[in-house]
Formats: sequence, structure tokens, C-alpha cells
Amino acid sequence: MKIAIIGGGVTGIAEAMYLARNGHQVTLYEKQKILGGLAAWFNIAGRDVERFYHFIMTCDKYYLDMLEDLGLSEELNWVNTTTAFYHGGSVYPFSEPQDLLKFKPLNVFQRFRLAATLAYLTKLTRRWEPFEDVLACEWLPKYAGKKAWEVIFRPMLDMKFGVHRDRMSMAWLWARFNMVGQYREKGQTKEKRAWLKGSSRTFIEAAEREMLRLGVTIRKSVSIERIEVEDGRATGIVLDGEFEPFDKVVFSSSSVALRPMLPKETEDDPYFRKIYDQKYYGVTCLVAALKKPFNEYFWTYVSDPEIPFVGVINYADFTSWEGQPGHNVIYVPWYSETDEAPYTTDNETIIRDYIAGLKKVQPEFDESWIDEVIVGRDPNAAMVCAGRYSGQLVPLKTPIENLVFANLSQIYPQDRGISLGLKLARYAVRTVETGEDTPMDFSPLTGTEEIPVDAEAFQPAAQAPEAEPAPAR
Ligand SMILES: Cc1cc2nc3c(=O)[nH]c(=O)nc-3n(C[C@H](O)[C@H](O)[C@H](O)COP(=O)(O)OP(=O)(O)OC[C@H]3O[C@@H](n4cnc5c(N)ncnc54)[C@H](O)[C@@H]3O)c2cc1C
Repeated sequence: MKIAIIGGGVTGIAEAMYLARNGHQVTLYEKQKILGGLAAWFNIAGRDVERFYHFIMTCDKYYLDMLEDLGLSEELNWVNTTTAFYHGGSVYPFSEPQDLLKFKPLNVFQRFRLAATLAYLTKLTRRWEPFEDVLACEWLPKYAGKKAWEVIFRPMLDMKFGVHRDRMSMAWLWARFNMVGQYREKGQTKEKRAWLKGSSRTFIEAAEREMLRLGVTIRKSVSIERIEVEDGRATGIVLDGEFEPFDKVVFSSSSVALRPMLPKETEDDPYFRKIYDQKYYGVTCLVAALKKPFNEYFWTYVSDPEIPFVGVINYADFTSWEGQPGHNVIYVPWYSETDEAPYTTDNETIIRDYIAGLKKVQPEFDESWIDEVIVGRDPNAAMVCAGRYSGQLVPLKTPIENLVFANLSQIYPQDRGISLGLKLARYAVRTVETGEDTPMDFSPLTGTEEIPVDAEAFQPAAQAPEAEPAPAR
């Protein structure tokens, strides 16, 4: 088959690779100059790092498999990372379960209450579905306690969902807590995360070489204008006003990019209506290359209403291996609507305000530490999965024949992630090959199955030969 893939992020890349391996003629279209989408890289003060902070966990099965497939497993730099919490002018370690029991912003009773609640969510519950109708802003203060809500959870949810905070369901939080539990290996108390030496560039460029070897046509710096639809079937794409015919079209970009590509009639279709109603949050992320490590922690959560961000991610130890100094790069993210601050705030103000906040978290820090600073933004950085979001999920097979839709809106109840994009790509390949929808399971606890990608796995089981008629007696 001749297949067009729209979107050269990790999901589109994996789809292109797998479909080309199955013998299809694939063209991958990407709007930006480089592949990688949200997981792309850039250079800051001579250091290649991810455009936005990225780390790999031992549970990132599909990503780890892909890296092995590309011969990159040896490039993983596994590090015992550490987490801290800044509150009330002090920094508290927050990496290991016992740190919670010593966490001074909560009194002893409040700490045990919080620990018991987290244990209940991660050890005693196996399913997210019962939490879907429960609001996080009601459940967490009730069970984890009001103080834990004020100090820990409310600032975290504010950062991620802002005005949507009070609409977030506990199902999303449940998945998040169960995923965080997987920063640690089974039986271990220490967090372990990996950085790919050389940044995500190492992965994206290796994948690009592999796609070229497989005969994939890669077209960068092109923005698909339309998906051509005739009599309810996708027949190809339109680029620079030119029609290019395809047997199948796979859409793997953000939901907001789909609407202008499809005929107006789709606005009345319940399937496409769900996609068009999906809501994204933008990210504004200050990235600074420093002369020395910001502090001793990988991740410092910040819970202080006077500071305009809730976290600092410090790449120093994370990117160091064999005793070599790492990249002293920090990321300071904040998520918001794209028509409100800080997304709309000018770079100068962001840099000034964030530096003031960074000085509070690390009193020794000052501007002289900074080699280069960049403010990165992306309008579609995270999905807002508020309320009963499972009702918003759409299948891979669309009502338009030969059009497959596969993007991060479908990985609920999980949060976005490279490994999940690669898993989604496996499901999408199956739908492209069979023409049938593929049921998906993205629960962190149950959705751990192997999903084969080779075409043979999708062939219907061979018919058993008919039994020879019994010889007449
Ligand atoms: C701040 C931040 C931190 C993150 N941290 C982590 C982490 O630590 N670990 C992890 O695993 N994941 C992390 N992620 C998530 C991860 O980056 C994403 O899940 C993943 O990269 C999404 O890949 P995708 O291909 O599905 O989508 P995208 O990356 O969004 O790719 C879609 C592509 O479509 C292209 N496109 C758009 N319109 C068109 C058009 N008209 N024509 C052609 N192409 C088009 C876009 O340019 C883009 O490249 C993070 C994300 C963010 C924003």
C-alpha cells in the first residue's frame, strides 16, 4: 500500500518505520525542519539537549525496545535521580518513601495520612475506572488531608492544569501516581531514570537513518493543507495546492491540526466532533545553560505562591557519565492556556521573574551563572483530560474509510510519553494493515502486553484443512 503519515513526532516516526518494514511505500510529512515534535532537541551554549526536559524510565517498554532495535541501548545513561520539595523557604529531600515520613511541612499525623493515601492508590487499587467520576480537588483533601492538598497537590495541579484544576478527575491522578511508582525498579526505593547520551537527537537521527534505509520518503518543512476525501474515503493529501494520491492516510499530529484538513461536514460527525472539542494546554519553559549545577537534585518541586513556577529540572548529574561533567542545563516549565500568562508574557519579563524565583529556591544562584537562556513554548504540550474523559476517546479507525487517527488524546488515563506514542503506533499499524479498529489498553497496570508489528501477525489464522470424509465401511 501507498501510505501517507502526517506528523513526524515519535508516533509518526514509529508508524513509518513499522509500515515500511512490512513492505509498504511510506511518505512521512513533518511541518518543522527536524523530526521529533515535542521530543525534538536543540543546542544551548554548545550542548545538545531536549527542547523540553525528557527522561526515560525502566517501565518505558516500547521506547526501550525501540532503542534496542536501533542499536542504542548502550547509549542509555541510567542515573539514580533525586527529588526535593521547596516550601516555606526550605528545600526538603523527597526521593524515597522514608523522605515523606520526615517531610516537615506536614505534621506527623498528616505525613502518615498522606503515606496511607498514596499506598492505597498505588498498592490497593488496580483499576482507574472507579475514580473517573471523582474529582481530584474533592478526593485528595478528603483522604490525603487539607494540608497535603495545599502544600503538595494543589500547586502541582495548578502548574499542569491551571483554570481546569477543579475539573480534573482522580482517574488521571491515579494513573500518574501509579506511573510515578515506576520511577523505582521493583524492590528498590531509589528513583532511576535515564538520559539518552547526546539527547533525543541520538534516537531521532538513528530512526531517520533507519527509515531512509527502509525506503521511507521523509518530507520536512511541509505543512499538509488537506486530506482529500471522496465519497467517504480518504484518497490522498493536498500540499502546496497539489494533490498526492495515497491508499491510506494516518494522522499523528495534535488534534487541533486535524480540523482544517478535513471537509466542513465532519463538524457534524460525532466522531470528529469529539476530536475538535479536545483541549490542549500550552507550555512555557525557560531553559538555561549554567556554568555550574543549579543544586544537588534532579527535580525540585516548588510550592510557593510567591514563585511563578512549580519546578526546576536540573540536568547536571542526569547527563553526566563516567565521571565526566554533565550539561548544567535547567528547565523551568509552566503550563497554561495559550491566551494567558505566562504563554503570552514577553521573554524578558519571564526571564526576569523566573530568575528572581530561582534565587529564592537556590540563594547562591545569580545571573552570572547563566551562559545562555532560552524561553521555549509549544501550544499543544499536554491534553486536558478533565471530567469523564473516557467518553471523549475516539477509536483509531475513523468514519472516513482509509483514514486512521492516532495521537496522544487516545492514551488516557496515562499522561503523554514517548513510550506511549510508540505503543500507540503499534496499535495504529495494526489498524492500517487490517482495516479494522484495534482495541487499546493504556492502563499503567494492565496495558503491558506485547503488540506485534509485523504484517504476518495480522493475517487471519489459516483455515484448518477440512477433515477427509471417513471411508465408507
Ligand atoms: C514539557 C514536556 C516534557 C515531556 N517530558 C517527557 C518525558 O520526560 N518522557 C517522555 O517519555 N515524554 C515526555 N514528554 C512527552 C513526549 O514528548 C510526547 O509524548 C511525544 O513526543 C509526542 O509525540 P507525538 O509524535 O505523538 O506528537 P508530537 O510530538 O506532537 O508530533 C506531532 C508532529 O506533527 C507535526 N505537524 C503538525 N501539523 C502538521 C501538518 N499540518 N503537517 C505536517 N506535520 C504537522 C508537528 O510539527 C509535530 O512534529 C514531554 C512533553 C513535554 C511537552
